[in-house]
Amino acid sequence: MAFKPLVFSGVQPTGNLHLGNYLGAIKRFVEMQETHDCIYCVVDEHAITVWQDPKELKKQIREVTAAFLAAGIDPKAHIVFNQSQVSEHAELAWVFNCVARMGWLNRMTQFKEKAGKDRENASVGLFAYPTLMAADILVYRATHVPVGEDQKQHLELARDIAGKFNNDFRDSIAANGFDPEAGFFPQPEPLTQGPAPRVMSLRDGTKKMSKSDPSDYSRINLTDDQDTIAQKVRKARTDPEPLPSEVEGLKERADADNLVTIYAALANKTKAEVLADFGGAQFSVFKPALADLAVSVLSPINERMRHLMADPAHIDDVLADGSERAGRIARKVMDDVKDIVGFLRSRRDR
Ligand code: ATP
Ligand code: MG
Repeated sequence: MAFKPLVFSGVQPTGNLHLGNYLGAIKRFVEMQETHDCIYCVVDEHAITVWQDPKELKKQIREVTAAFLAAGIDPKAHIVFNQSQVSEHAELAWVFNCVARMGWLNRMTQFKEKAGKDRENASVGLFAYPTLMAADILVYRATHVPVGEDQKQHLELARDIAGKFNNDFRDSIAANGFDPEAGFFPQPEPLTQGPAPRVMSLRDGTKKMSKSDPSDYSRINLTDDQDTIAQKVRKARTDPEPLPSEVEGLKERADADNLVTIYAALANKTKAEVLADFGGAQFSVFKPALADLAVSVLSPINERMRHLMADPAHIDDVLADGSERAGRIARKVMDDVKDIVGFLRSRRDR
């Protein structure tokens, strides 16, 4: 294989981490540690594509880090850091801004959703978000990216950027001693085959659960206490029918499907297994069971997060150490990129 398998993924410090982030991303991050070298990043530069209060941002960076550690990510065996401490991300993103085409970015649905009707007033950063995301991954020449389904389109774009870079600079890649057939950058693969790649809002089963949803009742936060979780599950939108006995019966029932998917993911079961237990049950029976399960999975994580947050200096040390180790890899790749693109660079010690 031309590229060493390496996992990279990130989470934005934009507010309350929720069950979608946990089931769609962080739980997968933890699992991937068993089989791969992993780099997990708190993507603070992505966060400021929309306004963030500076004091809150610092706290949120630490909170996402605490969630990573509390969920079981090992920052010694792998790498945990915040993006802005490794300047090569932004540096490579600039090169990618010159590789990616306006037409490609114009197709990105996340920009359309987040910019909404007032597109003229959206930041340039929000539009260019996917080129920075491509740089996050490719500055490590990472090969595998566990993400929720909503990020699939951005991963496709990262693949297109890697492909165009490899093609545009083919001769220079060869002249610098890299195999022009394999290219300089790998084609990073999205890993979205988790049990819940798209957790939906508890208020609307057709909308993704999101940190930026104004309604707190739309999501279960990792920091919610037992009563809040129970109340949110109780108020989750459902239809009047009992649960079906077969997965087929969840079709056209987005809200019911979402709750069953969440239950299955939390219990490490299939939806069929959950329906074997709950088929025919009313939501008045299923919802309390779901709330209990969510509490039993989330409260140990919640408790460890609180413990970690009580010692911010320790979190900052973890990030500084991770940033140093990530920076060493990124520096080397960025030096090669500079040679390939034709920049003159200083001869620093590596
Ligand atoms: P924001 O609304 O600020 O974009 P977010 O909830 O989408 O926040 P991100 O930090 O953008 O969170 O995403 C972190 C990871 O969580 C990504 O891999 C993303 O695909 C995943 N993710 C986000 N929401 C969900 C969801 N509802 N279901 C599954 N995965 C999700
Ligand atoms: Mg998002």
